[in-house]
Amino acid sequence: MTRWYSPNDTDILIAASPNYKQKSTRLPEAAIEIYYTQMPEEFIDKEMGQIAKVMKLFTDYLGQISIPAGTIKHVYSSKRKGQGRAGIARPGMIVTSEGLTLESLKKDPHFSFFQDIAHEITHFWWNFGAEQGDWINEAFAEYFSAVAVEKILSEQEFESVLEKYRREVRELPASAPSLSTVPFNGSGFVIRYYKGSLMLNHLRHTLGDEKFFQGAREFFQTYSGRSIGTPEFRSFWKLRLGSQKDSLDIWLDSPGGLPELKEPVQLGGLALLSVRLSGRAVLPSLWPAFVSTALCSRGD
Ligand SMILES: [Zn+2]
Repeated sequence: MTRWYSPNDTDILIAASPNYKQKSTRLPEAAIEIYYTQMPEEFIDKEMGQIAKVMKLFTDYLGQISIPAGTIKHVYSSKRKGQGRAGIARPGMIVTSEGLTLESLKKDPHFSFFQDIAHEITHFWWNFGAEQGDWINEAFAEYFSAVAVEKILSEQEFESVLEKYRREVRELPASAPSLSTVPFNGSGFVIRYYKGSLMLNHLRHTLGDEKFFQGAREFFQTYSGRSIGTPEFRSFWKLRLGSQKDSLDIWLDSPGGLPELKEPVQLGGLALLSVRLSGRAVLPSLWPAFVSTALCSRGD
């Protein structure tokens, strides 16, 4: 085996081995190829099925993307260490350490990095946040990987993923930078991935599923291929939030852990309480949109 490196690049890895085995399949969205040397066959077969489901889910939500050569390659590199979660993703390719994966499987035969692979796949869509705005890529990739858990595995597993995010975000020090100022330098993982995901979960709860996923699709289709930052994110989503737009500023600009938000009351429900006086309907339009009696400590 030949190993060589490019001193100016920190994250490019080219793996080759005469012992590589390959499995492939073709989906309507793309072809999938998995390269490995020692991974158990069942693990690879299961993963192939999972990638297919995740690709279909994200294409349904966000629309078609063009992947280089129309193929997603997942390479289990023969390196033994050195990666964050499922590995490194670039358009069309995910590289994972085979050594680390085998070690994890030895400790737990049910080991799976379904959510981590889903995270890397969703970067095929979420990759247009630039510099400080890189948190946008990570927040969407992480939240959509959680949505893959919800839709493909179970609601219960999705809830425990969110609970993990809340636990970690609550532990951030009060001085931790806000999403709108978190630097793009490899620090701030919990802020960019987890607090960002909880903010998107808040948007989803506030807007409802239909408007949230429609908004995500339009956000992707509007900005894909461009370079954006926090200002574009803020103005796009504030427009959709209407009267509840201030909650977005609180999420974006609060330093530290979970922001304290007032619990919104669904006006749709209140409208049902309209009463008839003197023969005409009176809608409770003067009722406050927010009830300020309790501060919400929920993370969404
Ligand atoms: Zn990522």
